[in-house]
Amino acid sequence: MARRKKIYEGKAKTLYEGPEPGTIVQYFKDDATAFNAEKHDIIEGKGVLNNILSEFFMLGLGQIGVPTHFLKRLNMREQLVRSCEIVPLEVIVRNYAAGSMSKRLGIDEGTQLPRPIVEYCYKDDALGDPLVSEEHIAAFGWASQQDMDDILSLALRVNDFLSGVFLAVGIRLVDFKIEIGRVYEGDFQRLVVADEISPDSCRLWDIKTGQKLDKDVFRRDLGSLTDAYSEVARRLGVMPNNPPTPGKPTLVN
Ligand code: UDP
Repeated sequence: MARRKKIYEGKAKTLYEGPEPGTIVQYFKDDATAFNAEKHDIIEGKGVLNNILSEFFMLGLGQIGVPTHFLKRLNMREQLVRSCEIVPLEVIVRNYAAGSMSKRLGIDEGTQLPRPIVEYCYKDDALGDPLVSEEHIAAFGWASQQDMDDILSLALRVNDFLSGVFLAVGIRLVDFKIEIGRVYEGDFQRLVVADEISPDSCRLWDIKTGQKLDKDVFRRDLGSLTDAYSEVARRLGVMPNNPPTPGKPTLVN
């Protein structure tokens, strides 16, 4: 069997050339990193959970008409996605203050924001992904004004969708990060939600107890990360032995 070509190895995923032109295989690793990779560990089973959870969210977004790069899950650790050019921005949406925003502005973690706030960070590990304004984005040509309008509207639609899905299972979506890809179709480009959506890139708190069910468990040494992610998957009804079914809404008890 021919060895497949590795395109890129990131902190939590490895990308391989897909079987058809314009496709990529995303392999979800068990590596967990925080603080710009200063903290690193292997968390057994994390990759499997994130693969299935990301599939669940991307399928759901597709069902409400939000374009994503997701094509199909291939196995427990891999999914096939459309290859796209990643816009070099981390798009962060916040519903409650937490993390870097709480530190920067001195707002207590958990304070509800008057409306969702969208922030942009320039994707550059060496610089620590600095916060940037739309002025920087336009001036340095990272995205056009039209792109920014589309990105804002995508980010808010993803926020509404995810907030509702989590609320239904007793989880508060505090904030999350998405990445946006450009897909070219002939002379046209379309923006799609790319990368992954998982507890690695969201802050998720149990509504009743405030228990953290996201990567802060790892960042802040709060217990077992696998237990936290499994609890999210269990509540959404998509454990590895019961993965999402494309096209079918999942019943939650
Ligand atoms: N986030 C992410 N990757 C990053 C930075 C942030 O997925 O490189 C997510 C993070 O998990 C949280 C949200 O974006 O859900 C906001 O993160 P914040 O700016 O508060 O940074 P942090 O406190 O995590 O450093």
